[in-house]
Amino acid sequence: MFLRSTDQADSFLSHVNDTLHARHRAMMDSLWKVLTAGNMEDVHRLEALEHEYEHTLQSPFWQQSMEEHSHKHALTASARRQLHVLQLDMDAVTGDTELRRRTAALWNDLNFRISTYRTELDGGHLTKSEVKLLLQTVQNQEKREKLWRAFMKLGQEVEAGLLELRALRNSWARQKGYANFIEWKYVNEEMDPSFIQNLMKSLRTALDSSHNQIKSQWDDLRAAKFGILPSDLRSWHYEDPFLQSASFSPFTERMELSDEIVRLRKWFEARQIPIDTLLDNAQLHPRSGKSEASFCLSIDRDQDVRIACNLTADIHGLTVLLHELGHGLYATSCDPQLPFLLRRPAHTFLSEGTAMLFERICRVDNREWKNERLIKLYGTLAAITFEEKWYANEDIPSNELWWDTIEDIQGVKRPDDWNHPYWAAFPYYTTLPGTYYSYLLGEIAASQFQQSLAAHYTDWTSVEALHELKDAIWKPGASMAWSQLLANSMFRSLDPQPMIDQFQI
Ligand SMILES: [Zn+2]
Repeated sequence: MFLRSTDQADSFLSHVNDTLHARHRAMMDSLWKVLTAGNMEDVHRLEALEHEYEHTLQSPFWQQSMEEHSHKHALTASARRQLHVLQLDMDAVTGDTELRRRTAALWNDLNFRISTYRTELDGGHLTKSEVKLLLQTVQNQEKREKLWRAFMKLGQEVEAGLLELRALRNSWARQKGYANFIEWKYVNEEMDPSFIQNLMKSLRTALDSSHNQIKSQWDDLRAAKFGILPSDLRSWHYEDPFLQSASFSPFTERMELSDEIVRLRKWFEARQIPIDTLLDNAQLHPRSGKSEASFCLSIDRDQDVRIACNLTADIHGLTVLLHELGHGLYATSCDPQLPFLLRRPAHTFLSEGTAMLFERICRVDNREWKNERLIKLYGTLAAITFEEKWYANEDIPSNELWWDTIEDIQGVKRPDDWNHPYWAAFPYYTTLPGTYYSYLLGEIAASQFQQSLAAHYTDWTSVEALHELKDAIWKPGASMAWSQLLANSMFRSLDPQPMIDQFQI
């Protein structure tokens, strides 16, 4: 009896793994082409492949088999875990068909508008990178405000569609028995919603005074730069339109990237985690039709992992490259013996944590760097808080909720003319809803990895330390839930204290 149920489950799962693997590879290869070449033909092909992949996961036969096998007692741990992961994957693409169809159509439309949006200024059309570059250099305040408001006009274009998306996403989640879409998203990613909320509360209790102090020192410098009072600073006086990043020391020193890459190859080679294949398959420089974003795609959840970025020849470029290499090494280090369903990170935040840890390879752990991370952390807290409240309370006026959140958490005052949908210009709310918390948990994980590995191996970048991370976190893939994976490792559980200790004044 034991053999029979196990055999049946195994043969069902083997069919599922083979089918999904082939379709996933075709879909990801197509996504890579869309993001790096930007041809319309590729966009249509990708849509067809995505539809095919989802359709496969919606199979009533799979649903029935998955439920039948899940109820059997005599299953191996691997089979049980695969069935659970399959159930989560299926849950993301099932539910009210009409709601899903409208959501997908609207998402495609808004995503296209966001990715092709150009800021119109004085007759010119600026890309997002060009706007950010101007915000680093333009001294004239009127010009800065005009530029910022022009950039934020994207919000007006997206607002109506995004409000409709929220209603559709919430209705779909409520039909599945959840309070709202964000709650569903957390649970679908094996995350307890109250864990995130309590974590954010405790972070603010521990770090608010440090953040306030750093932010006010930084504001004094910025105000002096513009010849105004700190109380007159507004969003356009910062370098990032949403204050999601900060630069305390202007690293303008040019680097010869090809030399840096040679050095990186040797550095990783010496630690027996070579990056040659990742670099050979990567697209590191801008080219026509290529996305402005940096990303790492695992095409086959095996060795075909591709990195794309648009590197600048300075420390920021090197940081971006190390970040994506972190994602890439994680993806290529999952145990090849694992079935397709489990050959992926146990949670996105663990991959983000690895990527953020790798950024630290080229950064000095000094106060300026910590200040930058602290400002960024509060930008992340604000982005998550707004989204959670916005989905949970559809009746609250969105513009007011946005500025209440930004003022409270980031300490950026609303301008006189504030009643506009600036929140809708934050692209994640449209394209990747409910995912921003992975950056928060990623930063926490990065500090925890760094501190625990340093405590145990003295140098967290030693061969032994990096192989501990590889064996304990990367290799097991999703064979366990993220909390179990940490419990089985030297890290025990996700602990915000190392990050608090690191960033606190
Ligand atoms: Zn990342």
